[in-house]
Amino acid sequence: MLPLAQYLPWFDLTPLYNAQLPFLLLGAALLLSFFYRSSWVALAALLLLVFLGIDRLGLLIGREQDLPLYMGLIAINLMLFICCRDRSVLSFFGMAWLLALTSQGVGLLGLQEYYGALSQKFSLPHLPDWLPVYAGASPPLPLMMCMAASFGAFLLLGLYPGPTAMGLFSCTVLVLYGVWSELPMVVLASTAGFLLIASLLGTSYELAFRDELTGVRSRRAFRYQMLTPSRHYCIAMIDIDYFKKLNDRFGHQVGDQVLRMVASQIARCSRGSVFRYGGEEFALVIPGRDRAAAERELESMREKIATYPMRLRSAGRVGDRRVLGLKFRSGQLIKVTVSIGLAQRGKQLKKPESVLKAADQALYKAKRNGRNCLCVHS
Ligand code: GH3
Ligand code: MG
Ligand code: MG
Repeated sequence: MLPLAQYLPWFDLTPLYNAQLPFLLLGAALLLSFFYRSSWVALAALLLLVFLGIDRLGLLIGREQDLPLYMGLIAINLMLFICCRDRSVLSFFGMAWLLALTSQGVGLLGLQEYYGALSQKFSLPHLPDWLPVYAGASPPLPLMMCMAASFGAFLLLGLYPGPTAMGLFSCTVLVLYGVWSELPMVVLASTAGFLLIASLLGTSYELAFRDELTGVRSRRAFRYQMLTPSRHYCIAMIDIDYFKKLNDRFGHQVGDQVLRMVASQIARCSRGSVFRYGGEEFALVIPGRDRAAAERELESMREKIATYPMRLRSAGRVGDRRVLGLKFRSGQLIKVTVSIGLAQRGKQLKKPESVLKAADQALYKAKRNGRNCLCVHS
């Protein structure tokens, strides 16, 4: 019993935790996954729910010695989900996965049930020792090593695969940890349910605050940041020059490539926070009171973008070009430039809206001055 429950008996959550919590959390994750159209979370929640249900009903044959095998298999499946694309579980692909999972379950139970009898009848070889169907309680080391190696490889590559993939990764690690530490099933399943729900919440955050195309923060994030600005900062408005012409000439796919390149160059060249303000405009909030340093930073960023060797990729396929009536060679270099307006918070510009307006005016001045340049509000 929890200490608090001695005084407040109705506060004792232990029975609820033991009996219902994992089902509630995994069920909630499953339900939410349909709204988010995430087959990863749906399959993971379903797999754990079914496993928990079978375990609760006492249907796991040889439960004690074979638990590591079941867990290893769950962990492998979780990793394999991530290798496929995340789409709705109600698709052909989702159904194929469900079938694959069911076959694994049936195969495993069949193996346990009949391997002994079959091996006697047809003198089959013994299962290797490391496959713990009959080999006692040792954890399936090879399985674990595979999992750990793939997890490590992902980390080494420095890739952030997104919140749902991270949720599945943490579930995999949890399941493997559960094998080593003999974590009670109820704790393991509840924690996994919590992780899956948290991963969907992470997805909500990304949807709300991150721009999908460029990966930088969205206009909404900018608005929120402007509600609680620091004391000293500059705002730079950055706009791609003649972007409409670029779209018309090379097509919108190439336009999108250019947007991604510009966003990544801004993020790389500046110590400030980048936001996609809208269309082909970015806002950059640079902290600190040193305006000259901000100017130097922006000048070097402008130059880097203007000299970036941007080459046309797949969007320039001959077929597409003919259909869209576009004229260019793939591999051709495209020149992209940006105009920048900068304003600093000061005595005249106290409110964030005034700083933003001043930066916008400076940007228009930069456009009038012939583009591909920086203008500072004075
Ligand atoms: P200026 O040098 O004066 O800024 O001219 P501009 O052509 O860059 O500006 P304009 O506002 O006329 O055109 C902006 C274009 O940006 C129009 C729109 O089609 C394009 N655009 C906005 N959002 C996207 C997007 O997400 N992808 C692509 N490819 N194009 C976009
Ligand atoms: Mg523009
Ligand atoms: Mg514009």
